[in-house]
Amino acid sequence: MESAEIARRFLRFFEERGHTVVPSASLVAEDPTLLLVNAGMVPFKPYFLGQKKPPFPRAASAQKVMRTLDIDEVGKTTRHASFFQMLGNFSFGDYFKEQALPYAWELLTRPESEGGFGFAPERLWVTVYHDDDEAASIWQHKIGVPADRIQRRGMADNFWSMGVPGPCGPCSEIYYDRGPEYGRDGGPVADENRYLEVWNNVFMQFERGAGGGKEGFPILGELPAKSVDTGMGLERMAAILQGVDNIYEIDTTYKILDRAAELTRSRYGRNDRADVSLRVVADHMRAGVMLVGDGVLPSNEGRGYVLRRMLRRAIRNLRLLGAGEERYMHELTATTIEVMGRQYPELKVDAANIHTVIDAEETSFLGTLRTGTAIFDAAVEETKRKGRAVLAGPQAFQLHDTYGFPIDLTLEMAAEQGLKVDEEGFRRLMQEQRDRAKADSAAKKTGNADVSVLGAMLDKAGRVDFLGYDLTVAEAT
Ligand code: ATP
Ligand code: MG
Ligand code: MG
Ligand code: MG
Repeated sequence: MESAEIARRFLRFFEERGHTVVPSASLVAEDPTLLLVNAGMVPFKPYFLGQKKPPFPRAASAQKVMRTLDIDEVGKTTRHASFFQMLGNFSFGDYFKEQALPYAWELLTRPESEGGFGFAPERLWVTVYHDDDEAASIWQHKIGVPADRIQRRGMADNFWSMGVPGPCGPCSEIYYDRGPEYGRDGGPVADENRYLEVWNNVFMQFERGAGGGKEGFPILGELPAKSVDTGMGLERMAAILQGVDNIYEIDTTYKILDRAAELTRSRYGRNDRADVSLRVVADHMRAGVMLVGDGVLPSNEGRGYVLRRMLRRAIRNLRLLGAGEERYMHELTATTIEVMGRQYPELKVDAANIHTVIDAEETSFLGTLRTGTAIFDAAVEETKRKGRAVLAGPQAFQLHDTYGFPIDLTLEMAAEQGLKVDEEGFRRLMQEQRDRAKADSAAKKTGNADVSVLGAMLDKAGRVDFLGYDLTVAEAT
């Protein structure tokens, strides 16, 4: 079953059950607490909070989402993408658990010939929040899931929030057992690779305040109404329904991976490191093209930096695959537009612009790599020669300051060489530079030449790297 068909089926099922189908919002979040949309519910947040009256009691969507929090997992696990699509049904104070769970079960187990996904019930496992007896009882008594396939989990796994202030509540996840060749028995609690999480049903009931982490955060109180928010991972469903090993091998990603393999004359499935690189390239091309399609431009801050990071990581991984100085981004962008264009025809209309943006980023980054890599290699050589395991802060700073190497690039390249980086030392130097620039521009205001603009530039450059870390703050679990 093609990805586009999976989305169609999901939306049709819920439309037939009184849900209004709402088109995907842009990846660029309107919500000021988020850089990018990280879940299907984000555009509906004001309805859950009771800040706005929903124009319909029920909705369904196929939402584009980005999770920078998962970047390090990309290509290494079988199931994490940076850009993916979340299929969701939503109730705004309308139905609650008693209706949401039977809907989910029905759609998953209904035969394919009748518009469902045709999963064998004995393959499905579910989890509930540890004290949610109500959800457990619905699964067991109303739906008929055997008690030993209903598992209970705590806050970190089964209490969902956006990761920032907003609606939250206990949730119930549905897992598909891929079979013993994928891992050990014992359900999702034992092995999340074998038991693949496909769908999360969140029972929105409370409001989360600022602060706290995954394991606990302040609850401000109850929401005005009990609501439902669900998220089904389209790519994970596609991996199961297309009978492939992982989400990078599905229809809308594998063609990009395959093209990257062809261009770099590498072969997928022969060597672990190369396979990870090919998956990263395919994943990041999708993310990059979708972000540019939504109007994001590469820059050194905020969402522009997320985009820059995606494109640069794709380019770097192409080099790890042996691309050298060859430029492959244009070809890969074309393939990505072609495969994603089936669901997002606007990409084809915008193709020329997308190419221009991505080609320009490739030009600039290849230049950076050309000058910086030799310096980096020398620093690594020196570090190793001295028998050290940590690249010194001043070296990381010089790479950043003189050669434009963002710190995460240095961290990544160092890790490939088995080295750590003195990040604290790096940060200290960045701070000193910023302070100097400020003092300088203050002093110069009284002098002849106005170099305050230089201070502002340095300030801006100085912020770059830290945003890379802050990005993860605004992520859901
Ligand atoms: P996981 O535990 O596997 O990281 P999650 O619990 O963080 O997933 P949710 O926040 O519940 O995920 O998101 C709803 C659904 O979106 C998941 O059930 C899954 O199908 C899908 N999903 C989540 N993260 C990713 C990702 N990085 N790539 C692809 N699909 C994802
Ligand atoms: Mg999970
Ligand atoms: Mg989940
Ligand atoms: Mg996760």
